[in-house]
Amino acid sequence: MEQFDIVIVGGGPIGIACGLEAKKQGLSYLIVEKGCIVNSLYYYPVNMQFFSSADLLELDNIPFISTEKKPRRNEALEYYRRVATSNELKINLFETVIDAKKDESDHFVITTNKANYKASNVIIATGFYDIPNLLHIKGEDLPKVTHYYNDPHFYAGMDVVVVGASNSSVDAALECYRKGANVTMVIRDGEISSHVKYWVKPDIENRIKEGSIKALFNSNLTEIKEDSVLVNTPNGDITLKNDFVLALTGYKPNFDFLKQLGIEIANTESLTPIYNPETMETNIPNLYLAGVVCGGLNTHTWFIENSREHALHIISHVISKYRFSSSN
Ligand code: FAD
Repeated sequence: MEQFDIVIVGGGPIGIACGLEAKKQGLSYLIVEKGCIVNSLYYYPVNMQFFSSADLLELDNIPFISTEKKPRRNEALEYYRRVATSNELKINLFETVIDAKKDESDHFVITTNKANYKASNVIIATGFYDIPNLLHIKGEDLPKVTHYYNDPHFYAGMDVVVVGASNSSVDAALECYRKGANVTMVIRDGEISSHVKYWVKPDIENRIKEGSIKALFNSNLTEIKEDSVLVNTPNGDITLKNDFVLALTGYKPNFDFLKQLGIEIANTESLTPIYNPETMETNIPNLYLAGVVCGGLNTHTWFIENSREHALHIISHVISKYRFSSSN
C-alpha cells in the first residue's frame, strides 16, 4: 500500500493549495480528486465571471493574469490547471475517496474506488458543489429540470423558470433573456439577494422593472409538469407555460461523508463542521478540513479568497507535530 505524510481529498483550488504547500515543505502527499482538475469550476456556467479579482484567487503568489480585473471560468481553469501541472503536483484524477479510518498504528487507511493508501494525516477539501439544495416538489426529477445551469444558447426561444435570486440565478436569468428566452424568476423573498454582485444587481433590477424579465416575489414553485409549472404567489396559485426549470437554490457539503469520517458537526442551523480555526484540525487528531467545506450550510462564509490560507495553517501544524515528535 502506498504511504504518504498527507492525503488530500479534493483537487479544487484549496486542495491544490494544500498540495503546493506540502510539496514546498518536503512532505510526501497525494491529492485524490473524483473528477477532473478543479472539478467544481469545470461545472460552473460557461460564461461565469468571478466576483474576486484575479490576485485574490492566486495560490502561493503564482501570478494569475486575466484579461479583465475579475477572471472568467475559462481563465480560472487555465490558471489552476497550469499551477498543478507546472508544479508537477501528485494528483490522482477520476478517483473517489470512499472512507478514511485509522488503523491500530494510528495511521489513516484511505479507501478509494480504485485503491487503498496509508497516510499520517488527511485533509478534507471536498467543497460544497456536489449536492444541490432540492426543492422537494413533485416533478423535480423531470429531465427539463436542472440544478446546474451551463449555457444560455440552449434556452433560446423557450419558456424558462429560474428559481432563486442569488448570483447564480441572476446570472442565468440575464444570460437566458439576452439569448432570447422568455424568463420568469420565482423568488421566495421580497427582493433580489443582497449577495448579488454589485455591478450586476442594477442590471437585473432594471430588467425586472421594465418587464423584460418577469419576477414573482414572495412566491414558491409548488409543482413541475411536462409543459407547465405551478407557482404559489401572494395573489394565489398560478400556472405558467414552461419548457425548462433552472432550480439554482444553492448547494451544500456532503454531510454524510463528513459524519462517516467521524467529524463532529455543530448542532446549529448552519451545521458547521467542528474544527480548530488556528490549525484546521477536526475532533479527530491529524484529520483536517480546508476550503469552503468548512462553512457547512453557510456557503457565504468561505471563498477561495479567504480559505486559500487554510493550506498554510494545516501544513505548519503538521510540520510542528513532526518537529515535536523528533525532538522527543
Ligand atoms: P471545490 O472547488 O468545490 O473542490 C472540491 C473538490 O473535491 C471538487 O473538485 C470535487 O470533485 C472533489 N471531491 C468531492 N468529494 C470527493 C471525494 N469523495 N473524493 C475525491 N474528490 C472529491 N470564491 C471566490 O473566492 N471568489 C469568487 O469569485 C467565487 N465565485 C464563485 C462562483 C460560484 C458559481 C460558486 C459556486 C462558488 C464561487 N466561489 C468563489 C466560492 C469558491 O471559490 C468555490 O466554491 C471554490 O471552488 C472552493 O474551492 P474548494 O477547493 O474549497 O472546493
